[in-house]
Amino acid sequence: MLRLLMRRYLGPACIHTSCVRQHGIRHSSSAENNTLPSISDDMPIEMKNPFEKEKQQCILCKMQITPDFKNVKLLSQFVSPYTGQIYGRHITGLCRHKQQQVEKEIRKAQSAGFMAIALKELVFMRDPKLFDPDRPFRPHKY
Ligand SMILES: [Zn+2]
Repeated sequence: MLRLLMRRYLGPACIHTSCVRQHGIRHSSSAENNTLPSISDDMPIEMKNPFEKEKQQCILCKMQITPDFKNVKLLSQFVSPYTGQIYGRHITGLCRHKQQQVEKEIRKAQSAGFMAIALKELVFMRDPKLFDPDRPFRPHKY
């Protein structure tokens, strides 16, 4: 590949030994066969467009993920932690098909009890902790 590219920069391939000395490149056809390179050997090669843009795909299609109602950690990323609303397509950037799937699976997870339907009001988010359920103790004066 590299050799082909370099040959392009140098112009047509040649069999002169001076060229080999000058460019430091040994043309494979001239070195091995010691004959003139065939025309087809030096023609531009067919290659994929290196500047072609990547096909636009949503994150779930790209990673080949099918949303599932048991995968709550995935689904919870598409739900606002403050309002509990499912984010729209303009926020999630999903394709129409995957967005519909995600919404369906979120509803399924909520009805199965894996995801919360009722959320805490924003006003009460910063409430101080009243007690530690893991380490209960009664207040004492010492
Ligand atoms: Zn998609």
